[in-house]
Amino acid sequence: MPSESAAEGWRAQKVISGARAPPRVGEGRGVGYDPVKLAEGLKGVVCRGLERKYYRFRGGRWYGGIATADCVGCNLRCVFCWGWQVRDNPAKAGFWCTPDEVAGKLAGIARRRGYTQVRISGNEPTLCREHLLAVLDRLEGSGLAFILETNGILIGHDPSYARDLSKYDFVHVRVSLKGASPEEFARLTGARPEAFELQLKALENLLDYGVSAHPAVMLSFSEPGSVERLKERLGEIDPKLVEEFEEEYVFLYPHVVKQLKKAGVWPRVAYSPDSIPQELI
Ligand code: SF4
Repeated sequence: MPSESAAEGWRAQKVISGARAPPRVGEGRGVGYDPVKLAEGLKGVVCRGLERKYYRFRGGRWYGGIATADCVGCNLRCVFCWGWQVRDNPAKAGFWCTPDEVAGKLAGIARRRGYTQVRISGNEPTLCREHLLAVLDRLEGSGLAFILETNGILIGHDPSYARDLSKYDFVHVRVSLKGASPEEFARLTGARPEAFELQLKALENLLDYGVSAHPAVMLSFSEPGSVERLKERLGEIDPKLVEEFEEEYVFLYPHVVKQLKKAGVWPRVAYSPDSIPQELI
């Protein structure tokens, strides 16, 4: 664990550099759960027929302005997750929504605020597949672009998920890789390291089915060498994935700092919420 005074230092700084303390990525965390199995179990909690649990609908500045539905439930346990309070209480959190309600609320927020984009975020949107596809059915023809922000595990596990998404030409998928290597992935999520490959496989499946997609990679805890190796692997799948490689960094919201401190994880680079660079928004 970083000392209390060092941790206070994180909050005060806008950009955090590992130069002041060695990076310690999840030392001592247990590893090894299977996120595909975890997803199966969670479906019984957050999916009900065509309905899914959500906890919030909002507008926001990301992507230049986007309407957002925040869903409940995720099959990873990232130590830097800003939605961990909902993620860890899926049975108690949120309220049930039909696809009509979700599509209607997203379109309404977008219309009122002049946005052209909508998304499902918060936790993991792909958990309730039938619900997600039904929301997309209802948004088809609305003129809105849909950004699917996902950890990619389920799309990597089952290529038919990518096939189903390919029916919607207004969907773009942002696959958020949790670290730059299987080892980083395991330390950051607590999941078995092999599951990192499913994130890469998701990108491959999506491109195979002609779905617009790009990788966003959490680099706050990465060594430069692992980033270069990841880019080589992405380039082997498709050089476009290297060109469109998006860097992601931890934002130090107080409840995120609390989790990082608890896990003894020390980011090499991070941003305080009031100093997020424009290019990361
Ligand atoms: S994949 Fe996203 S929602 Fe799930 S634990 Fe990680 S950061 Fe949180």
